Amino acid sequence: MSHIRGTNTSIEVLVRSYLFRRGLRFRKNDKRYPGHPDVVLPKYHTIVFVNGCFWHMHEGCNKHSMPKSNVEFWTAKLMRNHERDLAQHAALEADGWRVIVVWECELTKAARDERLARLYDQIVGGTDGAGSTGSAGSVSSAGHEGFAELDKSAESASSDSFIGSAGSAER
Ligand SMILES: [Zn+2]
Repeated sequence: MSHIRGTNTSIEVLVRSYLFRRGLRFRKNDKRYPGHPDVVLPKYHTIVFVNGCFWHMHEGCNKHSMPKSNVEFWTAKLMRNHERDLAQHAALEADGWRVIVVWECELTKAARDERLARLYDQIVGGTDGAGSTGSAGSVSSAGHEGFAELDKSAESASSDSFIGSAGSAER
C-alpha cells in the first residue's frame, strides 16, 4: 500500500489487463532489468513503465505538485526518484530496449481509451504513434522519452560548467 514503486497498483493493472486483452504476452515487474519495469515485451524489444505522476515527478503535470510541508525532504526525495528513472531508462535504451512511459494522468477515465489504444500501436507498430492522433497525450509521452536523452547530455554539460569558473562563459 505504501510502496513507492508499488506492484499491482491499479493503474499498472489497468495497463496490463488491457494489453493482455489485446493478445500481448509480457513479463511483469521483471527484477532483471533496472527499475523492475511494469511490463516487459521481449518480442517487441519494448519496456513499459506505468508511472504515478507524483512519485515520478511528471513535469508540467497538474497531478504533480510538491507538498507544502517538508519541502526540502520531498524535493530531494522526488528528485532522486526522477534522476533514477532517467538513468534506468537510459541504461535500458543503451541495451536496445524501447522505453515507453505511461503516466497516471493519461489514464483518467476520459483519456485512457485513447492512450491504451495508442500504447498498443506503439508496441506493435514500433512507432511512437506521434502524428497519428496529434493529441496532447502523445506530446507528453514523446516529450518524456526525449527528455531522458537530453538530460543525459545536460548532466555532463552541467558538471563541466560547475567546475569551470563563472567567468569562462560557454566552453
Ligand atoms: Zn501526469
